[in-house]
Amino acid sequence: MSVKESQQPIIVSACLLGLPTRYDGKAKHSQAVIDYLQNEKLLPIPVCPEQLAGMTTPRAKTFFHSGDGHDVMNGNGSVISATGQPMNEVFRLGAQLTLRVARLCRCQRALLKERSPSCGVHQIYRGSEQVSGTGVTTALLIAKGIEVISEEDL
Ligand code: SF4
Repeated sequence: MSVKESQQPIIVSACLLGLPTRYDGKAKHSQAVIDYLQNEKLLPIPVCPEQLAGMTTPRAKTFFHSGDGHDVMNGNGSVISATGQPMNEVFRLGAQLTLRVARLCRCQRALLKERSPSCGVHQIYRGSEQVSGTGVTTALLIAKGIEVISEEDL
């Protein structure tokens, strides 16, 4: 993908671009995302909030214990790892660092991976159950006025 000054920057979940950033050390490459970015002449800014916050790859699977990303940002809901570790603080840090990247790169939009505890847009996992809700990074980006879409919206 060639870069042109006229291209609008957009935050994109790194795993959707083929980078192996997921908790299991794998990627989640999406040809639909690549095609969308090219067709819309967008400049992807790859970000993995969990890696930005210093989490290792691979890492323990993580899910919501209560609430969703908005609740975690408001100090209510909780994210825990599969080993039972409280993860709210590191997930909030990942969200704040992603927002910083978005502002540095002048991104007004983000395209994020559905169902992730950081990046989910319409759905998340609460325990093993899929429920409506947003990830922690998604919640902060929306609260700060950034338009967020899911790869499943394309
Ligand atoms: S935190 Fe987001 S970018 Fe990172 S692996 Fe999970 S879904 Fe992909």
